[in-house]
Amino acid sequence: MSFQNPVFIPGPTNMPEAIRKACDMPTIDHRSPLFGGILHPCLDGVRKVLKSDAAHVFIFPATGTGGWETALTNTLSPGDRVLAARNGMFSHRWIDMCQRHKLDVDVVETPWGHGVPADRYEEILTADTGHGIKAVLATHNETATGVKSDIAAVRRALDAAGHPALLLVDGVSSIGSMDFRFDDWGVDVAVTGSQKGFMLPAGLAIAGFSDKAMEATATAALPRTFFDVKDMQKGYDSDAFPYTPPVGLMNGLRLSLDMLLDEGLENVFARHHRIAEGVRRAVGAWGLELCAASPELYSDSVSAIRTPEGFNATDIVTLAARDYGMAFGVGLGEVAGKVFRIGHLGMLTDAMMLSGLGVAEMAMVDLGLDITLGSGVAAAQEHYRHGNTARKAAA
Ligand SMILES: *Cc1c(COP(=O)(O)O)cnc(C)c1O
Repeated sequence: MSFQNPVFIPGPTNMPEAIRKACDMPTIDHRSPLFGGILHPCLDGVRKVLKSDAAHVFIFPATGTGGWETALTNTLSPGDRVLAARNGMFSHRWIDMCQRHKLDVDVVETPWGHGVPADRYEEILTADTGHGIKAVLATHNETATGVKSDIAAVRRALDAAGHPALLLVDGVSSIGSMDFRFDDWGVDVAVTGSQKGFMLPAGLAIAGFSDKAMEATATAALPRTFFDVKDMQKGYDSDAFPYTPPVGLMNGLRLSLDMLLDEGLENVFARHHRIAEGVRRAVGAWGLELCAASPELYSDSVSAIRTPEGFNATDIVTLAARDYGMAFGVGLGEVAGKVFRIGHLGMLTDAMMLSGLGVAEMAMVDLGLDITLGSGVAAAQEHYRHGNTARKAAA
């Protein structure tokens, strides 16, 4: 008997059995053409998921955090000015990494629950007539607050200001789950990791670089060795890495990309939207509110749910784990204790989500919150009953 429930943390996410098996493989010679047969489909598949024709894709043995470092160290020099908004724990950590790398960060403090303020970015970029700002950072999906930002609007802000800064985007909890358009949005570096939308264990940092970002590597003076994209490119040219590649994980990534592309990206995004909307209907039925301030900000990969004043939201996560063996996400940083998070990305079905909502409901009732058992589940059921048109059409 296995008591393994699905997890509802916003990464690492649930793994399809086939992907787990693909990661488990015998040792191969990573300097043989065999490895090229894993590497190149990974690079091509990631490019497709990014909706890009020309992005230079790099895969490092690391996590999303290593992807941030890849973006910064390959394109910037110590003392460079960068523009960034702090609207949650992940944007905060990326800013902290910039500061530790001796970058000069113009931080736009943004209320947690709000998105990247493209209008403020435009004002700051317009005022920067000397083009001192070298890069603009944006967290596409702030996993701490369940807020999706408008990256197209950030691109428009750069263009309206006629500003040449690079656009570096954290897509760790959006890429592969929510629409991401590297080419259309003029993204220069996109960063993600293996353990969220790609349904793999942690262990890969994945980055896409534009031609402009590749040109910036020529003058970027921040120290880099492990994360040097030029070294990595040289490795790829001979079907290898500059060091030992994580072959099993990359074999899993190859399958994950096939699964996402076979389902169809638009279907993947529609599934995430439908499942997320069911969660939002449940939250409404519970009489609770999301941390995200308005509907256009609602994330389809994670919901941060506010609990009543004076109640410790972390208790829900602790009790659900202890009494029901189910994992939800705690609030981080400024919203610690004020929100709990339901991750709804990766390998997930309507039915799995109903189990998560059912357990969240039991935990809240156990803790004395004024919630009726079944109310959120019923609201989500109504949504899922009518929403799953693709499956019904196929049946
Ligand atoms: C998870 C996450 C990260 C950090 O990724 P790690 O793989 O934990 O290093 C960065 N940004 C966002 C938005 C994330 O959700």
